[in-house]
Amino acid sequence: MDSPTLEDICNKPAFSLDDASSIAWEHFGIRGCASQLPGERDQNFKITSESDLGLGASQDYVIKIANPDIDRQVLELENSALQIAHSINAGMDGGANSFEIPKLIRSNANSPLVELIDANGRMCFVRCISFLPGKCLATFRPHTYDLLSELGRQLGRLSQALKRLNQLPAAKRDLKWDLIKAPEIVAKSVANFDDAAKQETLNHFLNQYSTVRSRVESLPQSVIHNDANDYNILVQTDSSGMALLGLIDFGDIVYSTTINDLAICGAYLMLDKQNPIEAVVALVAGYHETNRLSESELSVLFTLMCMRLCQSVCIAAEQQAANPDNEYLGITEKPAWEALKQLKEFDPVKVRQQLSEACSQCANTSHSRGIGADQIRELRSRHVAPSLSLSYDKPLHIVRGSGQYLFDDSGVTYLDCVNNVCHVGHCHPHVVAAATDQMGLLNTNTRYLHENIVRYARRLTATLPDQLEVCFLVNSGSEANDLALRMARNFTNRHDVVVLDHAYHGHVSSMIELSPYKFDHRGGTGKPDHVHVLAAPDGYRGEFKLSNPACGSLFAEQAKEVIDSVTSRGREIGAFFAESLMGCGGQLPLPEGYLSEVYKTIRAAGGVCVADEVQVGFGRVGTHFWGFEQQQVVPDIVTMGKPIGNGHPLAALVTTREIAEAFHNGMEYFNTFGGNPVSCAVGLAVLEVIEGEGLQGHALEIGNWLIENLLPLKEEFQSVGDVRGSGLFLGIELVSDHETLEPATELAHSVVQRMRERRILLSTDGPLENVIKFKPPMVFSMADAERLVMTLRETLKELNA
Ligand code: PMP
Repeated sequence: MDSPTLEDICNKPAFSLDDASSIAWEHFGIRGCASQLPGERDQNFKITSESDLGLGASQDYVIKIANPDIDRQVLELENSALQIAHSINAGMDGGANSFEIPKLIRSNANSPLVELIDANGRMCFVRCISFLPGKCLATFRPHTYDLLSELGRQLGRLSQALKRLNQLPAAKRDLKWDLIKAPEIVAKSVANFDDAAKQETLNHFLNQYSTVRSRVESLPQSVIHNDANDYNILVQTDSSGMALLGLIDFGDIVYSTTINDLAICGAYLMLDKQNPIEAVVALVAGYHETNRLSESELSVLFTLMCMRLCQSVCIAAEQQAANPDNEYLGITEKPAWEALKQLKEFDPVKVRQQLSEACSQCANTSHSRGIGADQIRELRSRHVAPSLSLSYDKPLHIVRGSGQYLFDDSGVTYLDCVNNVCHVGHCHPHVVAAATDQMGLLNTNTRYLHENIVRYARRLTATLPDQLEVCFLVNSGSEANDLALRMARNFTNRHDVVVLDHAYHGHVSSMIELSPYKFDHRGGTGKPDHVHVLAAPDGYRGEFKLSNPACGSLFAEQAKEVIDSVTSRGREIGAFFAESLMGCGGQLPLPEGYLSEVYKTIRAAGGVCVADEVQVGFGRVGTHFWGFEQQQVVPDIVTMGKPIGNGHPLAALVTTREIAEAFHNGMEYFNTFGGNPVSCAVGLAVLEVIEGEGLQGHALEIGNWLIENLLPLKEEFQSVGDVRGSGLFLGIELVSDHETLEPATELAHSVVQRMRERRILLSTDGPLENVIKFKPPMVFSMADAERLVMTLRETLKELNA
């Protein structure tokens, strides 16, 4: 007995060319001559209209006879997809941008589906669609950047539009050409190849896939075309070159990972290319313009493209074994193997970087086509609160960030020494991926069980002393401090608060009242009665100098006198708020022994101690993860913000079980955004990066080098008064006289402006606004440090400092 043909295996319908012509006429009113078109499971016939056969151009059609095994619902889904795809095209400009999709033709009885019996007595569904007259992209070259990015844009639009079909159950079907199935198919097929090199190639890509599998599995899914290969993409050529025409064959439509459409298209575009990545970059950048890709999606695309080619060679080998005469089946097999051999040499991480870069460049380009700096300023003055300030005499229009760098609207790169908020680096891919992945999955609140909050709380508290074990997640440093105040007052039943002079604890009403930095300066209304201010323990400018080994104790004794006098007046102290190193107060580390003594005094007076780690936490000080650890104290409440979410609005308070239980007094604590799954995913990702990249140790190493290399500036320049700090939290205080410590406020301002001209971003702060602040993203490198010191020295020279 003969072995079964692929037609038999696939149960292909059995209609002749004559049948096809008759069907066209009898059921669709189309007179023409039938010829066979390729099809794996279905029969497709082109009906060349009679007028085409000599009487000039007119429309041709395709009679599509579906495999008898296919469900009616799947064909209805395909028909809906054709109509939706058509409608997006109809809504667009014509001309160069039009992207054609075959049009569904209704039967003479006004139905999109006709039921007919084939030669083997099986019932088959028959449809008619318009024939697109283009040529396959596969057979034409060159594939220019413009052509491929336009293809990407059209695919992006199609992906968006097809989401409307997500609810149709027919889309959730089992297809061997679903890219989701590729790893399984490939793994099963490896052993079928005799050639060891082929086996090695397939195993290489299976291994590559295993490193991204979990990420792929969490990507957004939707209904996709699922077969945008280069034989289904049509182009038209004329004397001016080649233009995109359209896309055909919606027969593999399925509910799958959304970016599989892009991955499939990219896979075939890599065939027969000297530089396959260039082609993919153009396609992906175009897609991103019309359907934004997340960092997670970008990070797996190349691997998925390679997986598609592996899937293709495995399925082709299987089909060819069953049907050695069918040439169409092996049409891409040879070039696919060649491409796979070539693609093994590419580092997927580098490809991912190229893709990310291309996407952010296209975001940049569209940005620069948007509102310009002058217009933004004008609109800001009209519509945005006037009490917001802009940095620098010539404000910057920053449009992109990466690591320790910021880029302005004309592509100029700035070394960022200011933004401690983007702690692990601007747009760190791990954090971006965590946020976008979770954002695409779910964002709710703490009233539902969700693993992110507990995973995060467990990981965050593990960085703290044991007794600090209960978390409250909030949205900003101010909010964390406000909650700390509420909890302290609730726990002690006392109202008054002790703070350090020049401290800043936040912008909400309760915190402005605790911030001498605000209430004692422009626009401030002075110290409220319930607030008691201790001198800032400033070992450079304060009453006691760091050169005195007892500096910390002396400031602490002075603090005790103030506290005693407050309590002797009958005032009851509920809390002491202090940053572990002062930020706005002038980048000021506290002298040794200071906090432990003041904590004792406060506790003896009945108050709780709050460490504000909003500026300095998360490894920035290098020696420790938390600033308070440098002072060998354990606070009762720790507040955190800024770096905690790498720019995402997340903040936290961690306290003891006792204080948290006292706060649990019957009133619910509900915070709409605090502790949501996205914020927790972000917080967790930040902790993972700090640990994974060893950023605390890095901060110590770079910080120590900087201090060592900045200290000599004190000798070289009359106006460099003090260099201080820890890790990547440093301050340089400028004075006009080393003896009188007269602040060189204007000079500090000029230094920062000149450094900005030299593309290094710094800022000033401190009560006298004469301290240059340095608190960069923690990925600041040794080369950056060398550049900073060199440029600062040049600038100080230039300004005769
Ligand atoms: N505490 C300190 C020490 C801060 O530096 C700040 C912000 N500069 C805050 C609290 C307030 O944080 P946010 O701006 O997130 O409300």
